[in-house]
Amino acid sequence: MRLTVLAGGIGGSTFLRGLLKARPDAEITVIGNTADDITLFGLRVCPDLDTVMYTLGDGISKERGWGREDETWVIKEELAAYGMEPTWFGLGDRDVATHLVRTQMLDAGYGLTAVTEALCTRWNLPVRLLPMSDDRVETHVVVDDPDNPGTRKAIHFQEYWVRLHAEVTAHKIVAVGQEKAKPAPGVLDAIAECDVLLVPPSNPVVSVGTILGVPGIREAVRETAAPVIGLSPIIGTGPVRGMADKVLAAVGVQSTAAAVAQYYGSRAAGGVLDGWLIDTSDAAQLGAIVAAGIHAQAVPLWMTDETKTAAMADAALTLAEAVRR
Ligand code: GDP
Ligand code: CA
Repeated sequence: MRLTVLAGGIGGSTFLRGLLKARPDAEITVIGNTADDITLFGLRVCPDLDTVMYTLGDGISKERGWGREDETWVIKEELAAYGMEPTWFGLGDRDVATHLVRTQMLDAGYGLTAVTEALCTRWNLPVRLLPMSDDRVETHVVVDDPDNPGTRKAIHFQEYWVRLHAEVTAHKIVAVGQEKAKPAPGVLDAIAECDVLLVPPSNPVVSVGTILGVPGIREAVRETAAPVIGLSPIIGTGPVRGMADKVLAAVGVQSTAAAVAQYYGSRAAGGVLDGWLIDTSDAAQLGAIVAAGIHAQAVPLWMTDETKTAAMADAALTLAEAVRR
């Protein structure tokens, strides 16, 4: 069975662990979000690709959910001692090696797809991990400029998310470079030729939204013969973890499972979903989702351990069979 998954960082990779447990023999292609990417101290950092790589390669810090296990922070401390900015981004020593390899290969002219494949070889990844695009796309967030009251400025998503903890109002979210970006090699085929396309409980705006926003990808999702099934990252009235509610508000979407389903839209009406799983505690929203033309079901959606996450993946694949045209 060929499965294609559109993934952000923590939500996407946690779901993938469950999917691998539920379907160990599936041929899985992951299309990763690269709009979180940032260049720091000359190093190209791809947070979401690395979270997927380290998680599925068993190298992730289980405590933090990002970066490496057994990490040390000497480079970060030394940079701070030189007064180098930014100090708010966690670059661990082991992690830096990944960024050095990536930057060196990019500088030598390799595309991000080839670089990612090379990095993943070391980790014996049980999936094929593709960046959404080899072209640079970077999410920026428009916020009030504290230095110039009454005016606004755009800052990199990482500054908004990591330094400011999404605590300032996001007026607008802009994926810089997106309109000129092309899907990476293999991405459109992975969408067209899979048996099921899965949208894990990843951030609908700055993870899945930026992947779908690469010209050609949303269209490919609309046209694939495979059923497209998503799982809600929102349970109750907020994200399960993280600050997805803040970026949903910036695009005018309420933080509920039904509102996110409507934001993605039904494929029958020009959107991207055939089916949507919501948490059992949100079962009252099933009617609204079905009314939007999306098959829906309520199952437990807390990814508290791999067995529970595998059950979620299984439910998504069962729903896929029920809606297959
Ligand atoms: P990021 O790139 O690291 O922010 O990760 P993703 O975009 O892949 O996923 C972030 C989303 O995962 C957040 O909106 C969370 O609400 C969601 N999430 C995290 N843990 C869980 C969980 O156990 N269940 C569900 N349903 N969603 C979760
Ligand atoms: Ca991310």
